[in-house]
Amino acid sequence: MLPVVSLAATINEVERFDTIVIGAGPAGSTAARELAAAGARVLIVDRATFPRYKACGGGVPLRTERLLPFPVDSVVEQSVSRIEVTYRGKHSFAKRSGAPFAHMVMRERFDALLLEKAQVAGAAFRAGTTVRRIEQDGGIRIHSEGGFEAAADFAVCADGAHSPAGKQLGLGANMAECAAWEVEVAAPAGARTSSATAVIDLGYDPWGYAWLFPKARVGSFGIVLPQGQGNQMKALTDEFIAGRGFAGGSVQMARGHKIRFRRGDEVIAGGRALLAGDAAGLADEFTGEGIFYAIDSGRTAARATLRAMGTDGSLDSYTREIDTQIMPELRAARIVAFMFYGMLRRARRPWLFASNHTGFLWDAFFATQRGESTYARETGRLPLLPKLAARMMEQA
Ligand SMILES: Cc1cc2nc3c(=O)[nH]c(=O)nc-3n(C[C@H](O)[C@H](O)[C@H](O)COP(=O)(O)OP(=O)(O)OC[C@H]3O[C@@H](n4cnc5c(N)ncnc54)[C@H](O)[C@@H]3O)c2cc1C
Repeated sequence: MLPVVSLAATINEVERFDTIVIGAGPAGSTAARELAAAGARVLIVDRATFPRYKACGGGVPLRTERLLPFPVDSVVEQSVSRIEVTYRGKHSFAKRSGAPFAHMVMRERFDALLLEKAQVAGAAFRAGTTVRRIEQDGGIRIHSEGGFEAAADFAVCADGAHSPAGKQLGLGANMAECAAWEVEVAAPAGARTSSATAVIDLGYDPWGYAWLFPKARVGSFGIVLPQGQGNQMKALTDEFIAGRGFAGGSVQMARGHKIRFRRGDEVIAGGRALLAGDAAGLADEFTGEGIFYAIDSGRTAARATLRAMGTDGSLDSYTREIDTQIMPELRAARIVAFMFYGMLRRARRPWLFASNHTGFLWDAFFATQRGESTYARETGRLPLLPKLAARMMEQA
């Protein structure tokens, strides 16, 4: 006899998982890898097919390595141990860190490695899957373009700074934002570049910087500016590119994206869903970096989700951990930014002179990048200026 199948059940039947991760950037792939390694059934979806480009300088602070249980050497293009600081293209000074403080990667390759590790750990991946709608009703159900649907007990929304998933779920509203632009240029003959040096160009009003990060085949240029100045990014980056002798180089890629910042208690988890990485605004306002925090929050997201699976389903521990472990660091980075750019605006020459000749400022920066210290510890050690900056920031 043929089995009796209810038509309604067939229509509504979708693939079920313990957790669906939306977005296969560093935050999503890390959360998926840790969840799958702990035995959870995980589906990770991304609108892109991988490897995919992501507008990013690809500067990965060395401290990121200690968050990952595998080496990233295979995707490191260069490691930098020197920083050259210029002011609107004019040489100011250079500092050596002794040992490398950051790796330079191409995000296509770096993100593909992280995703591959998630798949090896057992996470299922569905590329080309743009999530359009999410239902939350005791569990999670995603609806994507093309009709694909899946259900899970939890969702980790790691879908980047625009976070359409977060918007749908009412999470991550009212965050601060800034604009950034990235251009990859093949070095023409005569270009001023050094494989172990990251160049930072200051002098953008009221704050921001342009960069040149060395990669194996291209120079990665870019600029980060306050929100509202997006229309100037392209011209200012072109000016900087020309100043470094790259004007004749062929442009491989040029794209902008926003970066967003969680500054206080913006809601990043609710019901059975949470935001990780850029979706949660976990980027540092001094450098604009977010890869470290994306990976860190991906790990926190996995821990919190596993905890919730084994208990009452509450993801409250996620917000608590982010608030105690990541937010103090992001707040300290914001204070450093406020102090640094504030001094640069008020007293450019003396501040550049002081920055050049105050060795411990750079030691503190390099130690933070390498994971031997933190912004929070360093701002605590130097109470006067950071304290003043923090007070002014609160009044601003
Ligand atoms: C120009 C620029 C330069 C930067 N340079 C640096 C740097 O040098 N160092 C550094 O540490 N940080 C840098 N950052 C920040 C860094 O890029 C981010 O912090 C980091 O990518 C965050 O990772 P993530 O996993 O949270 O999100 P992302 O890497 O943005 O990944 C999000 C993923 O979600 C997917 N997605 C989005 N919407 C959907 C949807 N509806 N359905 C399915 N999938 C979806 C996307 O395709 C994407 O793959 C830079 C940012 C910019 C804009």
